[in-house]
Amino acid sequence: MVPDTAAALVIVGHGSTMNPDSSAPTHQHADEIRRRGYFAEVACAFWKEEPSLREVFYQTTQSLVYVVPNFISEGYFCQDVLPRELRLTGPVTVRDGVTYAYCDPVGIHPSMTRLLLARAEEVAPGVPRDQTCLIIVGHGTSLNENSRKAIEDQVTLIRDGGYGFAEVLDAYMEEEPLVAKWHELSTAPHVVVVPFFIADGLHSYQDIPVLLGMESEPTAALSQNEVFRHNPHALQGRSLYYSSAIGTEALMAEVILDQVKDFKAKHGAALESAIIRDNSIPELPRKPFKLGQVAVSPAGEGTSWLLSHVDDVDATDLRVSTDPLEARSLSIYDDAGQFRPLKTAPTLRHGWKLALTDEAALRLALDFLYPAALGFVRHQAAGTLEPVPLRQTLGRQTGMYRFSNKITDEQAQEMVACHCDAETKCIRRITWHLNPEQPLTLLEENKRPETVPADELPLLCVEACTHIVSAAREIARGGSVAGAHAHGHSHSH
Ligand code: SF4
Repeated sequence: MVPDTAAALVIVGHGSTMNPDSSAPTHQHADEIRRRGYFAEVACAFWKEEPSLREVFYQTTQSLVYVVPNFISEGYFCQDVLPRELRLTGPVTVRDGVTYAYCDPVGIHPSMTRLLLARAEEVAPGVPRDQTCLIIVGHGTSLNENSRKAIEDQVTLIRDGGYGFAEVLDAYMEEEPLVAKWHELSTAPHVVVVPFFIADGLHSYQDIPVLLGMESEPTAALSQNEVFRHNPHALQGRSLYYSSAIGTEALMAEVILDQVKDFKAKHGAALESAIIRDNSIPELPRKPFKLGQVAVSPAGEGTSWLLSHVDDVDATDLRVSTDPLEARSLSIYDDAGQFRPLKTAPTLRHGWKLALTDEAALRLALDFLYPAALGFVRHQAAGTLEPVPLRQTLGRQTGMYRFSNKITDEQAQEMVACHCDAETKCIRRITWHLNPEQPLTLLEENKRPETVPADELPLLCVEACTHIVSAAREIARGGSVAGAHAHGHSHSH
């Protein structure tokens, strides 16, 4: 069996084009697992954020890659979207000499029980369990297919596990039994409510507090602290304790590792043939270079590196950090505090400097600032970059995006020129065509991969991103090319 220290772990999440809360827990669990050093590499990939599901494999260099969906249940995403986008054909897929192990989603692992118990203890410490009702809340309806089953399984496990609760119930936002009727469903004097979601968001901050009666109407002013700090809430003659989403629990990192462990127990024989390749990656040149809006320069004689915004190279009043994880925070908002759903938007914030101790830290920081970019450069040099024509990307969309390929060639050319524009939208250089024999005709010079200045590493685009797919959908539905809201205006579901 290939040891895990010669394997990569990719944690896959939904992500959002609207706010950073959705992907934050996935990144935190990845940080924790990376810190423990169990795997040679730990990366995240998202349906709606970067790196995309396709791109993440350019980022990893190992020949065995475990993929764990950070999803609450099996269903449309885990059974349809993720295998399609990740090009996985079953639990074990071998492609181009790399073995991909597709594990089950975290939410269905039995060890979620441990997390629910820990969460209950955190929000209601010392409250006697024999006077407490634990309610696990899901969305219900088709939005989270099969989440009902995952929740019902947990209710049974906790009820039958002898954990001492007076009652254990499931309840849903949009189907029976309704969470709004929590006081009729339960009889115990203390009630602990845990949302069975991967991340905190509008559901846990606003919708469920209103359904529970904690708030009379959703208020945008509700921050996480306000919602979760005021426990217990005296409501309907009971003490109600409300928790943040179960997916934000630090122990989720253990569940991710448990899914890898279970996969190996079940499919280990199929992994025996995974080959350990020499995956040494070429060293970065020890001279100043630029990647997108980041200036990188070697510091002194040692192995350390300095990074800043290209505009800030000579600035003296920068906020200095030595932590490569800081690069992720730097990439989230622009100078005006607006969320940057596209990391390659020309809006990288100013005023910071990273002083990093070695090349591993540099690579990690650059992967946070520009996900998978160094991997694209490596594959381009090796001749293994596989740009995907736009028609192919649009043609494989399903669900609400399945009509996106109906746009005309002319609309497609204009759309790319408009929505990928380097000055206003995205500084990546496009390597894909409209069709294999049909190049993009309206690209400016700064969007072409062959015109990269000598002191820059190219920031490449190998496949149209989610923003362009959304724009194509709007145009196909009758919108104008310029009017399609490609950046930050599409919904995350
Ligand atoms: S499709 Fe366009 S906007 Fe999206 S990453 Fe590529 S170049 Fe940027």
